[in-house]
Amino acid sequence: MIRKLNFNAGPATLPLAALERAQAELTDFAGSGMSVMEHSHRGKEYEAVHAEATSLLRELLAVPADMDVLFLQGGASQQFATLPMNFLTPGASADYVLTGVWGEKALGEAKTVAAMYGAKVRLAATTGVGDGKEKSYARVPTQSEIAPDAAAAYVHFTSNETIHGVQYAVAPGAQFPDFGGAPLICDMSSDFMWRSTDLSRFDLVYAGAQKNIGPSGLVVVLAKKSMIERGRKDIPKIFQYRVHADNGSLYNTPPTFAIYLVRNVLAWVKGEGGLPAIEAANREKAGVIYAAIDQNAGFYRAPVETSSRSLMNVVFRLPTEALEERFVAEAKKHDMVGLKGHRSVGGVRVSLYNAVPVAWAKTLGDFMNDFAKHNG
Ligand SMILES: *Cc1c(COP(=O)(O)O)cnc(C)c1O
Repeated sequence: MIRKLNFNAGPATLPLAALERAQAELTDFAGSGMSVMEHSHRGKEYEAVHAEATSLLRELLAVPADMDVLFLQGGASQQFATLPMNFLTPGASADYVLTGVWGEKALGEAKTVAAMYGAKVRLAATTGVGDGKEKSYARVPTQSEIAPDAAAAYVHFTSNETIHGVQYAVAPGAQFPDFGGAPLICDMSSDFMWRSTDLSRFDLVYAGAQKNIGPSGLVVVLAKKSMIERGRKDIPKIFQYRVHADNGSLYNTPPTFAIYLVRNVLAWVKGEGGLPAIEAANREKAGVIYAAIDQNAGFYRAPVETSSRSLMNVVFRLPTEALEERFVAEAKKHDMVGLKGHRSVGGVRVSLYNAVPVAWAKTLGDFMNDFAKHNG
């Protein structure tokens, strides 16, 4: 078997150990004579998996006791709509901070809900430059650029913009900026659990699983109980965080196999030494790729400002689009896949999520140096 060096942006590579465990357990889970997919979500076999996924996540990320862990469906995109549905009320306003396209999408859904409710959304900061198709983002805002409304229903930001490769708080020990006194909500889809994170500042954090912790379709929501309580009660039950929290994410049938895979991935994270070890590997991988860019600065160009460069999604350009195509095609011949930049921005994108081994980054870094030498 040849496992590709998979640099996909999401769905993304999963730890081989987590996949092999699924393979070994597939047809006969825990001696039960059936797969975990075929078990009732109310039976003891699945309940143990659900509880283990939850407790591993709580343990590895040190989730505060006053936060609930929810496993929901519809991906991060559904949260874009579910958040304003729960937390906006007539006359209220929500703040959004934009550093890329995912934040724009979250804002767009909030505008739709606000129009239905007679509420408002407001830009508390944006680093977008230009308009329409030419719009670009190359950094996170400075503290003084963030103009929060203390009376906002909440303030929303995206910790890592997957397409533009713009990430907050990347330096060792760096903290997120102060987003003001309103309840703080963060889309952490593409940098969830990339390192230990102080969650006490957040009222709600959500992350689509398919970047760092599992397969697509599943979204993890960490929410303070006090935030959940604020949610509206006059929206359909299926969209109320309260209902999912009260039922331990078992209000309706959850995506049991996806949650089982998250269990496998988190067990692997724990075996690797937890988030400190994962962070060290992530820093090493990103260091290798950025070094290859910077050492060939006349050939590769990173559009993102150094202090906002994402460690999860490294984006860069080559001198021409033809060379970019050739780069991606030649890398593929060496079993390196998933390197084409998002269609909206072009270029090359290297996604270095938790499950990408350091050795893959080194192989790609060597390839980048060779490619620059032969084509520069
Ligand atoms: C991938 C991604 C999303 C969308 O996730 P879906 O599961 O496709 O809804 C949202 N936000 C960020 C930051 C992402 O990287």
